[in-house]
Amino acid sequence: MRAAPTATRYDLTREELNELLAGEPQYRLDQVWQGLYAQLAAPEEMTNVPRALRDRLTGKLPPALELVTTSVSDGQDTVKFLWSVAGSAQVETVLMLYPQRATVCVSSQAGCAMGCGFCATGQAGFQRHLSAGEIVEQVVRAARWARDRGRRVSNVVFMGMGEPLANEGAVWAAVTRLHGDLGLSARHLTISTVGVVPGLRRLAERDLPVTLAVSLHAANDALRDELVPINRRYPIEELLVAAQQFVDVNHRRLSFEWAMIDGVNDRPSDAVELAALCRRLRPAAHVNLIPLNPTPGWPTTGSSPATVAAFRDRLIALGVNATVRRNRGTDIDAACGQLAARSRAVGVVPRTHPAG
Ligand code: SAH
Ligand code: SF4
Repeated sequence: MRAAPTATRYDLTREELNELLAGEPQYRLDQVWQGLYAQLAAPEEMTNVPRALRDRLTGKLPPALELVTTSVSDGQDTVKFLWSVAGSAQVETVLMLYPQRATVCVSSQAGCAMGCGFCATGQAGFQRHLSAGEIVEQVVRAARWARDRGRRVSNVVFMGMGEPLANEGAVWAAVTRLHGDLGLSARHLTISTVGVVPGLRRLAERDLPVTLAVSLHAANDALRDELVPINRRYPIEELLVAAQQFVDVNHRRLSFEWAMIDGVNDRPSDAVELAALCRRLRPAAHVNLIPLNPTPGWPTTGSSPATVAAFRDRLIALGVNATVRRNRGTDIDAACGQLAARSRAVGVVPRTHPAG
């Protein structure tokens, strides 16, 4: 499992940048670091830095992400960026603009090895981990797009391609950078996990109280084994213990994500089982209901709006907080679980090499 082959501009630590700036006046370190993080600037745009140094930094600190396409939703409030990263992989980032906040949904891996059948990323399989710099740069590039339209990124969710707790080191380095250098508050950084229990246990011991979302989708092991194969390794009981440990340390309510699949996990009995699990956590977990987004490799459809509403009402009647997540970006394939750049590109766009 390779990391990114070369260090890119947001992979460098401040100490590493300091080494790169050896021989320069000491204030250059702050200038360049501020340029990267406060101004979201590429080295060539840092006009307060002498030309020769700008050129040297541009050569030494390449960008990690090469933009392939940008898709903007009909309402102009959701943008999907498709990037190509080193090693011929492609990843996607989604920017969602709301009246009161702007959220970037980042990818933590190119592909995913967890194999959830209803998820387009899972259907495409795993390619490689992303480095911290590749993750941070997704936020920076989306934040530049937002800034050009007078908006500021306030939240980051690790709900793009990949399983963040299967790439913990890079994800945590990115979280630290987003918090310390881009200035995002820890509670506005959300890690979504399918339930990689050892990673969850370690997350509880980290020094920043990030927000946690657990993709549950089923409240008994028989069904969850089917929908989310990692459940066979870390069943619900173990997951609940680790989740409670996280809540105890961070004093934060966690949420369960529940993709609503027609006739599979949207029955009254599912709501009853789910409510019981939520109430076992102290404080009780919140539920986010996401109508299943259609993907090419999964036969079942999402629950109807009426079923989703009835399921939510049932949870609320059982004393559990539940909200229906609006589907953002379905028209540009930017919704949850629809990100699978590579699978669509491969075989469709053959690589051609110029003769000679
Ligand atoms: N691997 C992590 C984070 C990325 S997936 C995780 O699974 O939590 C982000 C969210 O999208 C998860 O809650 C996931 O279950 C959900 N999701 C995946 N495929 C989906 C689909 N087709 N429709 C709706 N939600 C989906
Ligand atoms: Fe991976 Fe999350 Fe998709 Fe499952 S739902 S395959 S864990 S990205």
